[in-house]
Formats: sequence, structure tokens, C-alpha cells
Amino acid sequence: MRRTVFNEDHEAFRQTIRDFIAAEVVPHYPEWAEQGYVPRELYRKLGELGVFGIEVPEEYGGAGETSFKFNAVITEECARAGVSFGGSSVHTALCLPYILKYGNEEQKKRWLPSFVSGEMMTAIAMTEPGTGSDLAGMKTTAKLSEDGTHYVLNGAKTFITGGVQADRVLVCARTSAPARPAAADGQRSAQAGSREDRRGGISILVVDAKSEGYAVGRKLDKLGLRASDTAELSFTDVKVPVEDLLGEEGKAFEYLTHNLPQERLGIAIGAYAQSAAAVRFAHEYVKERTVFGKEVASFQNTKFVLADCKADVDAMQAVVDRALEALDAGELTPADAASAKLFTTELAARVIDKCLQLHGGYGYMLEYPIANLYADTRVSRIYGGTSEVMRTIVAKSMGL
Ligand SMILES: Cc1cc2nc3c(=O)[nH]c(=O)nc-3n(C[C@H](O)[C@H](O)[C@H](O)COP(=O)(O)OP(=O)(O)OC[C@H]3O[C@@H](n4cnc5c(N)ncnc54)[C@H](O)[C@@H]3O)c2cc1C
Repeated sequence: MRRTVFNEDHEAFRQTIRDFIAAEVVPHYPEWAEQGYVPRELYRKLGELGVFGIEVPEEYGGAGETSFKFNAVITEECARAGVSFGGSSVHTALCLPYILKYGNEEQKKRWLPSFVSGEMMTAIAMTEPGTGSDLAGMKTTAKLSEDGTHYVLNGAKTFITGGVQADRVLVCARTSAPARPAAADGQRSAQAGSREDRRGGISILVVDAKSEGYAVGRKLDKLGLRASDTAELSFTDVKVPVEDLLGEEGKAFEYLTHNLPQERLGIAIGAYAQSAAAVRFAHEYVKERTVFGKEVASFQNTKFVLADCKADVDAMQAVVDRALEALDAGELTPADAASAKLFTTELAARVIDKCLQLHGGYGYMLEYPIANLYADTRVSRIYGGTSEVMRTIVAKSMGL
């Protein structure tokens, strides 16, 4: 089916990104995956290419584009080539919307030019060792100093994409206690009430990674996404100037609710694009490989499996394209985004698994891109909210 979601500008941009990946990323990617991060130099090159400034208003050095479609193109092209730009999708697709929507004029002037050039890389730290899905249960605290000039940040975060290399991290921390203590008796109504209250009192601080007391812990060893660093962070009496509070104190949950649909759509687009790449890799492989004197492509099973996968990819594409239009129109609801993420990521797992199977033993070897896709796609059912959490959101939207 002809796609109608992208126009000529998007397609020209796609070609630029495709060429950049072929020249600047693919030749070095195995080395980056081995070391577990991409070089800073890549971020500076992406800055020069304009990738970090697409949605930044012109007065701060960006292109002033309001559509998320250019980001979608980048996600698709990275998946197509089986590579990533390290933590840059977190920088642009996750962190930027918070700065643009909730940052004040002084903060935008201070941060955005170096954000756009890639000199200042950002990450976002919500998850903690003790809590991921239940974000309201976070224990990191930021206490306002008596003279009101700074917050004192204490706590720990984990699984932070780009956390090793980030210069500024959007840290979610509790600036005031929950309004009411959590119900101890386990009664359903009391629990529901306390859950609402626990969402208040959390704020976002844009913390300078050079601050005293800020420490990067282990760079975590992952199953997939091996060229993107994922880190533990800890904060011991870190002084964060009040000027680095993003938006209003205590409103982080509201902000997260507003921005998570875009993050989840980004993951859905990645799952779709990885599935499309898997079908392409499998299609190429089965045409080359002979078994019992015949092309693997000649078996009816191969044709049927790939036909099923193609139909699945078409369905995923229809979902993400419609969701992209809805996002640009400001109409993508949290439940829509959860539904798109749930559908595409669960289906991608099945499609990529089938495509790996068609490669036989070679599919299990990391020198074949399908093996990396298999490992990379696994996390899409976990991060940005697990499939179980997505089901909870969709079920709630159905009145269940
Ligand atoms: C590679 C990677 C990169 C990441 N990057 C970032 C990042 O940059 N910043 C950041 O803040 N976080 C990041 N995360 C964290 C990610 O968002 C969390 O891992 C995710 O939200 C799940 O939280 P958890 O790991 O604590 O799992 P848990 O919340 O402990 O969940 C454990 C299990 O319980 C299930 N569960 C939870 N709640 C329910 C429920 N209500 N009903 C039924 N089942 C439920 C879950 O689905 C899961 O199966 C990253 C994670 C990974 C793996």
C-alpha cells in the first residue's frame, strides 16, 4: 500500500539520514556495539546534520518543525540499517518535549543552543532500583534549602539510557510527601484514593552531571541495544539550583502523562520498522540459501511465513501511520498510544522470531543482522511502560 503519511520533505530527509547512516554509522557500528556506547563525535555530527534541532524553534538554533514525522523517519532508517544513534532518540524524542513545553525562557536560552549542536546531551531518569512501573513509588527526594536557592537531591536511578554520557539529566524526584499515606488495610477504594495522592509532589530537575555528589554507577551490560549506554545514577546531597526546576514543583506526573504518548508511539514506530527490516533480511536470506538442492524461498512454508509476516507489517504500518497523524494533530490519547505500543511490540516479537527461524542456525549468529534485531526488539515490550501496563491503560479506557 502506498504510504500517505510522509511528504517530499520527509522523503528527502530520509535519503539524507540513509546516506549518513551508510557513511558514518554502519562502518563503525560493530566497534560501538562492542564498547557499549557511541562516540561523542557522532552526537556532534548529528548536531551538525540538524537532527537534534528539528523541533527546536528557530530562535534557539533549530528548524522550528512541529511534526514528529521527521523523528519517525530517523527511527525507521536506523531500524532499516540495524543500527542506533546511541542515546540520541532519548535526547530528542523524550527530553526535548519536556524542555520545550515546560522550560521557561531563560532555561530555553541557556540549554537549547548546546542541545541542538549536540554539545549538551540529555537523558531522563524516572526509574529507580526499587520502582519502575509504579513511578509514584519513587524514593529519590529533592528538598528545598532553607534559603530557597537550591534543592538538595538524594537517591538513585537505574536503567538510564544515555546516562553515562549525559551532560544534563531530567531527574524525577519527590519534592514533597504524598498528600495522604498509602492505605495499609489493602481495601480497594482506599488504595485507589492513595494512588491518586501519591502522584502529587514529584518534580523534574534538570541536573548538571558535573555537580558534586552526582555519580554515574555501572554501565549496565544488556542483551540488545548494545551501542546505547544504559547506566545507574546516584545523587548524594547534590545541590540543584532552583533555576533548574522544570515547570512547576509537584507537577511531574501531569507532565509525564502528557509526554508519554509520544514516547510510546516512538517505540511503536521502532517495532514496526524493525519488523519490516526483519522481513527484508529474511527475504534476502531465503533467496540465497539452498537446502536439499533448493532455495529455502521455494518451500511453501517459507512463502506462507513471509506472507504472514508481510501482512503483519502492513497492519503495524497502518497503526503507526494513523497514530502519527493523530499525534501531529494533538489528538493521540494515552490509551491510543498504549494500544499502538502494545499491538506493534507484541506483534514485532512474533514476526522477528519467525524471520530468525527462516535463517536457521545463522539467524542465531550475531554477525547476521536478524540476530541483533531479535535482541534489540525484546526491550520494546518493557521500556516506556511494559505490555502489562499498556494493557492496564487500555482496559481502563474501556471502563474496566
Ligand atoms: C534498555 C532499557 C532502557 C531504559 N531506559 C530508561 C530511561 O532512559 N529512563 C528511565 O527512567 N527508565 C528507563 N528504563 C526503565 C523502564 O522504563 C522500566 O524497566 C520499565 O518501566 C519497567 O519497570 P521495572 O523494570 O521496574 O519493572 P517492574 O515495574 O518491576 O515490573 C516487573 C513485572 O511486573 C509487571 N507489572 C508491573 N505493574 C503491573 C500491573 N499493574 N499489572 C500487572 N503486571 C504488572 C511488569 O509488567 C513486569 O512484568 C529502561 C529500561 C531498559 C531495560
